[in-house]
Amino acid sequence: MGYKSWFETHAQKHEALVAKLKTQGIAGEALVAYFVFENMVKCEPDFCPLYARGKKCHDRAYLNCFLCACPHFRFKDEGLHVRENGVVVKSVCAANARFAKRFVYEGVEHLDCSACVVPHNKAFVRKYLGKTWKEAMQECEVK
Ligand code: SF4
Repeated sequence: MGYKSWFETHAQKHEALVAKLKTQGIAGEALVAYFVFENMVKCEPDFCPLYARGKKCHDRAYLNCFLCACPHFRFKDEGLHVRENGVVVKSVCAANARFAKRFVYEGVEHLDCSACVVPHNKAFVRKYLGKTWKEAMQECEVK
């Protein structure tokens, strides 16, 4: 599945889950707590393919899954821009995060978020409560 189809599928899944939880009175801080990795593995096993293996996308004690992917991630399949050396940049971090890394494969530059846990922090998730997942993802402009 390409990024675009994953994005649309995940947006629907996320919105359906948040709507279901709302009918159960789960919102605000309770919603933040619900999306903690350990609870999601137990209560929403189909939300992420990694749950079946009990595997986290980042090896850290606290991992919140509410903002997978990251609102700062920007991607364009046709390329966002081309570097002077001809490398096509397809994804960037709109926040220029400290732990954002890049790699080039077959003339295409990609963003590597593996060392960054910004979207999985509780304080960061709190900022986006009240927005749909899609609204959260589209908040940042590419710099
Ligand atoms: S580097 Fe961090 S802040 Fe930037 S897009 Fe990736 S996960 Fe988000």
